[in-house]
Amino acid sequence: MKICIYCGCEKPDEEFSDEHIWPDALGGDFLPRDVWRTDDVCQKCNSISGLFVDGAFIRSWIGQAERSSDSHEYLAGRGKPAAIPLHYLGPIMDVSLPAGHVADFWVGPCGANIVHIRPDDGDEQWTTYAGGDPRGKKSKAGRAYMAFTSEDDFWIAVSLLSFHRHFGRAERFVVNMEIPANWPFKEPNRSDAVQAEDMKVVDAVTGASRAGKQIHLQPLISLDVGNRMLAKLGLAVGYKLLGASFLETEHGKNLRAGMREANFEKRQDIAVRGSGLFGQAGLEAAKDVLAWPGGWVLLVSVVQDSLFLGVVVPSGKSMTVLISDEAALVATVDPKYKDGAIWVTVPAAGEAAGPVLLPEYLAHQTGVSALPVLTTLASKRADRTNLPPCRPTDDSTASSWGGSNSSINACLRPVGLGQHFPNARVMLSVAFIAAQK
Ligand SMILES: [Zn+2]
Repeated sequence: MKICIYCGCEKPDEEFSDEHIWPDALGGDFLPRDVWRTDDVCQKCNSISGLFVDGAFIRSWIGQAERSSDSHEYLAGRGKPAAIPLHYLGPIMDVSLPAGHVADFWVGPCGANIVHIRPDDGDEQWTTYAGGDPRGKKSKAGRAYMAFTSEDDFWIAVSLLSFHRHFGRAERFVVNMEIPANWPFKEPNRSDAVQAEDMKVVDAVTGASRAGKQIHLQPLISLDVGNRMLAKLGLAVGYKLLGASFLETEHGKNLRAGMREANFEKRQDIAVRGSGLFGQAGLEAAKDVLAWPGGWVLLVSVVQDSLFLGVVVPSGKSMTVLISDEAALVATVDPKYKDGAIWVTVPAAGEAAGPVLLPEYLAHQTGVSALPVLTTLASKRADRTNLPPCRPTDDSTASSWGGSNSSINACLRPVGLGQHFPNARVMLSVAFIAAQK
């Protein structure tokens, strides 16, 4: 029998599973196990956390934007086509939709226009989740339509790989290209009643793009985004660095409550100290030296006998949480974390670095003294101007980038040069809500 860190319940060993303390989707798999993974979370908590705690951040408008930040630089470093995260812009407004459906607008590589039409969940719980209800059923996954904006072979390959990875469960259509029969994409069939209705929406969107008109999108953003995840991180990292006795302390109990309480109003009464993404960020002053392009920077530090965790997201915004201010307990932390330890995980590079001592990290970032592990990580990134140009050109040499694209050419036959869609112009009217329901 073991006690679960997250629920505090005693359960048989076989009901426990491997938990990524820092979410897998944000590069948790590349971090060392000693701090960032645990076997002491029950399966039930692991899946609840993935769906409602980590998931509420990962699938938020902000989480999606952060995930795609700087992905082009790592793609340039990779030197060959690969899937990159898509940008979620929000539900399409002012366009008539098939009854009972929602249409989300996503932007792919080189600005590819993607319209994802899916059944309306009718459940407020998922209104801040990009793509709606993330659970199971394929029938809820909907239909995704992509219109290329580039005829360049490299970008066609990147767009298809990204589209396929992102919409793994949805039916996938490519609207402006002939698709070979055995590919995991289809061309829309306008004599199919469902697809014909969908294509009215796609036509409205691509038509607006072509005419230079704006598309009105309205994502819903929770002001509370990431806060439950932050409490969870504080709880789990506190357990890892301070041991099981931390769970019984006041801070341990508060962090657990802050992670578990779904109701925003009730959560205000729980004393979790720190600052969320929209708060007065404690690391704001240092963001220029702490932030890592395309990477998630995790900082553990002891300041005046208090143990803190800080997260700097790819755009440089930060959030912090107080793990413990019990001096006697904090004194037990491994000395290597006391002056500050940093981990950087870069999903787009498939790598992480750390722990690195904070002073060494700062010396590297300010150019005072290079740290090989960070130099290696930085070498995965290249100038995005090394990538082929997005827009089609008359210069056929533009598509020879990467050297071996002729095989792609043989399979892909973009339909008509005239069907190049300019990047969509969008008007975002962001709606903020106080909290995730
Ligand atoms: Zn549990």
